Amino acid sequence: MLSNNNWKNLEEIIEKNNKFIITTHINPDGDGIGSELGIFHILKKLGKKSLIINDSPTPEFYKFLDPKNELIKQYEKKYREKLLEADVFFLIDISNFERLGRISKIVKNSSAVKVVIDHHHSNSGWGDVNIIDESASASGEIVYDLANRLGIKIDNALANYLYVAIFTDTGSFRFSNTNKKAHFICGELIEKGINPREIYGNVYESYSWERMILFAKVLSTLKKTAEGKVSSIHITKEMMKSSNAKREDIEGFIEYITAIKDVEIAVLFLELPKNKVKVSLRSRSKYDINQVAEMFGGGGHKNASGITMQNYTLQEAEKLVLSRLEKLFV
Ligand code: AMP
Ligand code: MN
Ligand code: MN
Repeated sequence: MLSNNNWKNLEEIIEKNNKFIITTHINPDGDGIGSELGIFHILKKLGKKSLIINDSPTPEFYKFLDPKNELIKQYEKKYREKLLEADVFFLIDISNFERLGRISKIVKNSSAVKVVIDHHHSNSGWGDVNIIDESASASGEIVYDLANRLGIKIDNALANYLYVAIFTDTGSFRFSNTNKKAHFICGELIEKGINPREIYGNVYESYSWERMILFAKVLSTLKKTAEGKVSSIHITKEMMKSSNAKREDIEGFIEYITAIKDVEIAVLFLELPKNKVKVSLRSRSKYDINQVAEMFGGGGHKNASGITMQNYTLQEAEKLVLSRLEKLFV
């Protein structure tokens, strides 16, 4: 689905306005962070000042993209005015308002122009200007197109941002969204001087000890459903606390249990405060788990989706989602 692809409007909006806020979804990933830094960089080259404000902190393993800690701000009350004054919001890699976290209300009620740049299947086109390309491997691919359309030279900094966006969202070029264009763009970025080995090391060879301590506990919860077609793990609040892990330490756990032989769908249940449960779903190939996620109010892509379940205990959420998934295999 290519919904309301308003490139032209976007060029005009950038030209006419001056107060730009850029943001991405809660618990941001490499695509969110890389793409928003990409937009920031493009606007800067066009002589426009902008501010990146996210709900959640930047994970440690993406901090090398903002080494002086000066580009990405985490939302605090002092930024409220800035958000209220904005002319334009760039909302990157987000399929709905809720995933904006604490700034969602301000954005929702704002009369500023909302520019949504995304590649999620479940994105309904909730912005005023929507550049949504489901065939894009990452939002970073769309930002690359934007740079080219606007005649922005891709220098080393921009190349680094966009490479991180694409290489992380494709699972280092192995998920089903990996395509010719992703490889082509990353080839171009290598030509601009980025170092794939170094970037890989920065992102994926920088695990915290807390992560590994948590992972040992989490693996002991591994469960098989639907005769081994579904694998699942869970993380309780207590496990998070006793291992002193951060939310970002969980990233990638689900990929291990997706790789078990004959598993079609993998699920991770994360117990959150206030009776919420975050469910992550991965499908190896043929099953469209975005459809399953949407049944529970979540969304994402065909092979990677998420749900935030409200008013469920961990056990209830597990029972409900796993029994729904079992039905796919009868
Ligand atoms: P995650 O399991 O959090 O890594 O997310 C997998 C995919 O599903 C990502 O593309 C997310 O953007 C999307 N996603 C995760 N949680 C939600 C949610 N609560 N609502 C809609 N989409 C989600
Ligand atoms: Mn994302
Ligand atoms: Mn993405």
